[in-house]
Amino acid sequence: MRSRGSTIRNGRPRRARPAQAIKSEQPEIAAPMPDGSAGELELPHTLTVKDLAEAVKSSPVEIIKVLMKNGVMANINQTIDFDTAAIVASDLGFNVVEQKRAPEASAVPSKVQQLVYEDASQLRHRPPVVTILGHVDHGKTKLLDAIRKTNVIESEAGGITQHIGAYQVEVHGQKITFLDTPGHEAFTAMRARGAQVTDIAVLVTAADDGVMPQTVEAINHARAAGVPIVVAINKIDKPEANPERVKQQLADHGLIIEEWGGDVICVPVSAKMQTGINELLDNLLVVAEVADLKANPSRRAVGTILEASLDNTKGPMATVLVSDGTLKVGDVVVVDDITGHVKAMFNDQGKHVRRAEPATPAKILGLNAVPQAGASLVVVADDKAAKALVQKYLDEKQSRAAAPTKIISLDDLFGQLEKGHLKELNVILKTDVEGSIEPIRASLERLSTDKVKVKVLHSGSGNITESDVLLAIASKAIVIGFNSRPEPGARRLADAEGVDIRFYSVIYNLVDDIQKAMVGLLEPVFVEAVDGHAEVRAVFQVGRKSSIAGVYITDGRVVRGHQARIVRAGSVIHTSSVNSLRHFKDDVREMAAGNECGIVMEGFQEFA
Ligand code: GDP
Repeated sequence: MRSRGSTIRNGRPRRARPAQAIKSEQPEIAAPMPDGSAGELELPHTLTVKDLAEAVKSSPVEIIKVLMKNGVMANINQTIDFDTAAIVASDLGFNVVEQKRAPEASAVPSKVQQLVYEDASQLRHRPPVVTILGHVDHGKTKLLDAIRKTNVIESEAGGITQHIGAYQVEVHGQKITFLDTPGHEAFTAMRARGAQVTDIAVLVTAADDGVMPQTVEAINHARAAGVPIVVAINKIDKPEANPERVKQQLADHGLIIEEWGGDVICVPVSAKMQTGINELLDNLLVVAEVADLKANPSRRAVGTILEASLDNTKGPMATVLVSDGTLKVGDVVVVDDITGHVKAMFNDQGKHVRRAEPATPAKILGLNAVPQAGASLVVVADDKAAKALVQKYLDEKQSRAAAPTKIISLDDLFGQLEKGHLKELNVILKTDVEGSIEPIRASLERLSTDKVKVKVLHSGSGNITESDVLLAIASKAIVIGFNSRPEPGARRLADAEGVDIRFYSVIYNLVDDIQKAMVGLLEPVFVEAVDGHAEVRAVFQVGRKSSIAGVYITDGRVVRGHQARIVRAGSVIHTSSVNSLRHFKDDVREMAAGNECGIVMEGFQEFA
């Protein structure tokens, strides 16, 4: 039970935390402060948590923590009364006095607040959805297991958890939803599909290993998504654990923990010994309070497919994470071009359920095909509406196929800027050596103007990977390879999704290109993609004018209509297009390596 949208009075919680948490009661009204207090503080009759944070020059997170300690759950925009505020402020060392005349204005919500409340009358708080990120072997899976073991919601049947892609735990009567697939690849792949389901990222960093390349990737991926990060320093049970070193390394990457004056919550844990887990969960609730996550359980559900499979006997099964509304058995649902009726639904413990509320994962039966992970699920009124929605999806798909769009390209950057579609140029920078990153990043960021900001979302040394391209898709970024090439999978994905990858080996050229693109002066570039190579093994004269080269294709393929160069003794002697391509008697469009065929080149006979 929550007491939101209303003023919390007398510092008494309407929803109490468990007994042991309330035992550390503070006096109802702040007692006079001892010497060395933080000074006198005048507070109004009522104020919001945010206002109080400003008044005591602290972060809202800190205030919410103190409130929680006193058994009061409040979010950042919630109004609290003087008595409650006084408890917090005295906890922080202030001598608190009530303002003589409580200004009416602060008791009446501002216009903006009022609007929010009116529109939000249906909104209720929902659990946060959390993803675990971090370097390989730092303990993501182990931590997910430890959390599941310590706090999974007990079921009467003994609570045997099922793997359905997500699970929920309950802490002090509040739920937290964890996505079961850790790692930033899965996280960003979801975003690339247009589904941002995560509210909070837990960054696992092993205390014995410290910040590693994938830790940095994870930080940048979470930042690019605008998702708050909570750090879990794991493996503190190990003798060689060095949490202080980890904190320093995190600070080097801009994650300043609270202990050091920043606002990043950091919790030491041992997934192996199951220590620190409850503290981590408590802190996730704090971050969730600040984020003020809401949804409307009374509307028709929308959600995201987390995973899906075909069961031999039950047919297509899919796990849905409901993002808004309540999903019910019997609902008519649409996922892309797939429709269905929810025939049965199971929770994360394999129990039959009839409803799934916001931020709740549920496995459903009743779709007519297996959907893709990351696709959206929508509940509609009836079969007719479902059919119409499928048609709309198919139409949109067709028009997308007819006019494939580049996500963002340097070529039309200026156009996008002009139209006001773009305020930031997001860049993912991969270099051959670490040392090149900072000078390039600094030069690029210096190009920012008051109209457009150049932002390097992620940088690193090594090849351009699939996860770089996914991040580019999810964040509408271009990828720059400075003496760095894409891995085959990354290249394929970039081609398929229209991600612009640019290659440079001279910093000046790189910066110059971006600058020109920003003012619309970039010359179009033609990128040569080699189809293949063929050797001329025979020449056939056809009439007087035409000669056919009998070739053997040594690698790749030869395509009719594509450009070809004739090379003799290492020198290019002619360049034109392949006019005709024959395999025995047949005209063919293209021919693959290992075959012989006949080629006629445009305007060239002198093969022999
Ligand atoms: P992931 O790749 O990040 O999912 O890492 P795992 O969860 O698979 O853990 C990698 C290894 O570290 C496994 O051998 C775990 O048993 C071990 N491990 C994970 N957490 C801890 C911990 O808190 N303490 C110790 N000593 N080992 C841990």
